[in-house]
Amino acid sequence: MSSAPLAAGMPIAVENPEDWPRIASVIERRTGTPPVVELPVLVRFLGDCIARLFEAEKEHNPEMLRGSFSDEVIGKLLHLSLHVPGWTAVAADVLLIGAPEGLEHVVLRTRARVQARGEDGQTSVHEQFWDLAMGDLTTTVGATSCPNCGAPLPKGALACAYCHTDTRSTAHVPLQVVRLERLS
Ligand SMILES: [Zn+2]
Repeated sequence: MSSAPLAAGMPIAVENPEDWPRIASVIERRTGTPPVVELPVLVRFLGDCIARLFEAEKEHNPEMLRGSFSDEVIGKLLHLSLHVPGWTAVAADVLLIGAPEGLEHVVLRTRARVQARGEDGQTSVHEQFWDLAMGDLTTTVGATSCPNCGAPLPKGALACAYCHTDTRSTAHVPLQVVRLERLS
């Protein structure tokens, strides 16, 4: 499975950690088992995903998010104009909203307020909703080199640019971003 290296520890604070036991018990009542990961793991994953979203926009390459973001979220990002090119996420505050019902997966919904810094040193705040699915999730990933001709492949590429071999495969992951709404 190819997953990008973790972005170097962006500080991320949870505004309401006291609400996690209630959310976890809602998940347990619904599924019969406790959440597959604990809150600190979810928060670290979210912080990593936030940092990588900003990196992907800087690189103009949403496909580098494969593995951690669902195919659907990446597809949407590919069709949107770039939102905050050139900004780097430096810190985030996260509010735990709950575990919405009626979705395909067990999901933790959060709202993140992300502080970002531009190349000129300016700062800005971006508000986003993130749905994190947990469980046995499948995702499409590319390869790091072409299995046919051996050419190195850019992160997230699903086909070889030289011999056009389809390099995609399916990976199983325990956590995934299944929805992302950017408010500002
Ligand atoms: Zn090739």
